[in-house]
Amino acid sequence: MRSSLYIEGRAGERAVIDTGPEFRLQAIRAGITRLDGVFLTHAHADHVHGLDDLRPLCREYREKSIPVYSNQYTIEELKERFSYAFRETQQGGGKPRITPRVIREPVQIGALSFTPIPVKHGILDIVGWKITETRPEEGGIQEPPGEAVYLTDTSMIPDTSLDLIRSPDVLIIGALRVRPHETHFTFHEALQAALQIHSQRVYLTHICHEHSYQEVEAYCQNFQAAQGCTGIYMGSAYDGLELEV
Ligand SMILES: [Zn+2]
Ligand SMILES: [Zn+2]
Repeated sequence: MRSSLYIEGRAGERAVIDTGPEFRLQAIRAGITRLDGVFLTHAHADHVHGLDDLRPLCREYREKSIPVYSNQYTIEELKERFSYAFRETQQGGGKPRITPRVIREPVQIGALSFTPIPVKHGILDIVGWKITETRPEEGGIQEPPGEAVYLTDTSMIPDTSLDLIRSPDVLIIGALRVRPHETHFTFHEALQAALQIHSQRVYLTHICHEHSYQEVEAYCQNFQAAQGCTGIYMGSAYDGLELEV
């Protein structure tokens, strides 16, 4: 299925990054019944064309629709592509109740904060997301926050963005294939970027169908052996993968 990420905070906060064409099937499988926010990386079809299936999740939100966050360009594309969702229609009209929001700073949902990370997808400016969970103080001890970074469809990470995402607990990063591509990292480029970011757990996502899961795993192992960085985890993400941070 197309790449996306569902996030559950310890206090029950729920959000999703990207609503691709299989969003409905993914939401059913993951048992999603409510969402506090939707975070989009960009408006390409494989990341947003399941947006309409937010509809049943809007039921609890009659008073308040679900906020959808992304950069200006993505939100403008969204309003064009899903114009019916933003027009006045008859009562009971079947459309998702969503509120588009252009992000300018981190978005706070309970103990979770979502920081937009500007990255390049070819010439397109798109958004990666850093998710940080503040942990409650227990017995005078403050646990450090948990941090995960989700970057997909990336071909370049500006230095200013690298500074925002140093050493997350988990990094999920898009890696299309072995052969070069104009708008996506190859496996090698994604793993190189992961070394710069310094995460202990790295998962490749948005992999094309040229490579099997086993081939991607073998590629990661060979890369680590060649780079001498065997102390960290580098591997392939897959449908239904669950991670605890
Ligand atoms: Zn894309
Ligand atoms: Zn894509």
